[in-house]
Amino acid sequence: VKVAGRNDLQFFTPSIQERSARSLRLTNALHQAIQRGELSLEYQPQLELSSNLIFGAEALIRWTHSALGPIAPTEFIPLAEMGGLIGTISQWVLCRALHDAHSWTELGATPLTVSVNISALQFDHGNLAGMVFEQLHAEAFPPSRLELELTESVTLADPEKALAQMEQLYAHGISVAIDDFGTGYSSLSYLKRIRAHRLKIDRSFIADLAVNDDDRTIVSAIISLARSMGMRTIAEGVESPEQLSLLRTLGCDEIQGYLLSGPLPQDAFMAFIQEPVPF
Ligand code: C2E
Ligand code: CA
Ligand code: CA
Ligand code: CA
Repeated sequence: VKVAGRNDLQFFTPSIQERSARSLRLTNALHQAIQRGELSLEYQPQLELSSNLIFGAEALIRWTHSALGPIAPTEFIPLAEMGGLIGTISQWVLCRALHDAHSWTELGATPLTVSVNISALQFDHGNLAGMVFEQLHAEAFPPSRLELELTESVTLADPEKALAQMEQLYAHGISVAIDDFGTGYSSLSYLKRIRAHRLKIDRSFIADLAVNDDDRTIVSAIISLARSMGMRTIAEGVESPEQLSLLRTLGCDEIQGYLLSGPLPQDAFMAFIQEPVPF
């Protein structure tokens, strides 16, 4: 790579090459990861503040590469998206999550919901709604207990196609949450058209909630916006009792974060939901 201009840019060139060598290696390995049983899911509990009950969990993918060890989803999900593998991976995630969530049915106060992360790309390529219906049918899972988390960080190439698929999902009783709300590119008119059931307030607004007035103002505004549009709010990345009590005061509906529990493997998650909520 020839770097023109400032000398200090050359300093970064080797690391860019290293990174793309790793990316290439990971992308190739990802093709076999499913067959090799290297992928797994963890579940992070979600708490409703008014009732203090666990109502559901978010499924989070894990990949342990045979030689490189654990690879973060923030590293390999973008590679899966670029490498055309995201459809296969999402189908695996959905199938496993619905299967596991079946086992939770008898454990919670009410049947727990499961939230699955969906890449916005899947609305553009392929038929996301069709894939979801197929998996629900195969696992005989009630659609009302499935939520899809959509991040607004990717702009949809074909919003009309995405909205049409969302209408199909809603018609079957599946709900949608807007993930990382407040950090992406979506306009408010887009938000209005999506008609999501839940807004997930991004962790970046929660981290300094106890010390930063601006974050408190933003979170408060998101909660009233959501409420006036008939959506529930869930705060992600809640780590401290101070954050929790502020969120209660601000009228946030639900929380998720290390304060309650980090993501847990299936067995540990099932044990967790049979214990009393720790606060
Ligand atoms: P996300 O959807 O915003 O997921 C929340 C991330 O925050 C997770 O990281 C979770 O482990 C972490 N987290 C949860 N509670 C706390 C907390 O209290 N403090 C802090 N600092 N972090 C917390 P993870 O598991 O590494 O996932 C990262 C991202 O990878 C996810 O962000 C999501 O965008 C993507 N991802 C994960 N699983 C899937 C999947 O199955 N499919 C797709 N398409 N994307 C996925
Ligand atoms: Ca998520
Ligand atoms: Ca999120
Ligand atoms: Ca995030």
